[in-house]
Amino acid sequence: MSANCLFCKIAAKQIPSKIVYEDPDLFAFEDINPQAPTHILICPRKHFKSLAHAAPEDQAILGKLQLVAAQLARERNLLDGYRTVLNSGEGAGQTVFHLHLHLLGGRHFRWPPG
Ligand code: AMP
Ligand code: ZN
Repeated sequence: MSANCLFCKIAAKQIPSKIVYEDPDLFAFEDINPQAPTHILICPRKHFKSLAHAAPEDQAILGKLQLVAAQLARERNLLDGYRTVLNSGEGAGQTVFHLHLHLLGGRHFRWPPG
C-alpha cells in the first residue's frame, strides 16, 4: 500500500466505493464520475504509479486486468461491444496515479478517442 494513494485506500476499504469484483490480485469498483452506462475501474492490489512503472514480472497481473474486464463485460451483457482504456501519464489524461484499467460500455464509442 502506498501512503496517500486514493485507490490503495479504496482497496483497504478506508474510503467507500462500490466494489464489483475482488480477488487476491485485483479489485474493481464503479467509477465515481461515469462516462458510460457501465464504467468500472479495475486495479492491481500492488501499487504501480502507471503502466510505465510495470516490469516484466508484472506480465501476469497486467494480462489478468484485461481478462477480468472481459468477464465483467460478459456478466453485464455488453453485447454491442465495450472499451478498455489505460491512461498512462498526465499527457494521456491519467489523474489517479495507481494503475487502473477503465471498462466502459453501454453506449457507442467513436474512434479516435479524444
Ligand atoms: P484516470 O483519469 O485514467 O486516472 O482515471 C481516474 C478515474 O478515477 C476517473 O474516471 C475518476 O472519475 C475516478 N475516480 C476518482 N476518484 C474516485 C473515487 N473516489 N471513486 C471512484 N472513482 C474515482
Ligand atoms: Zn495505490
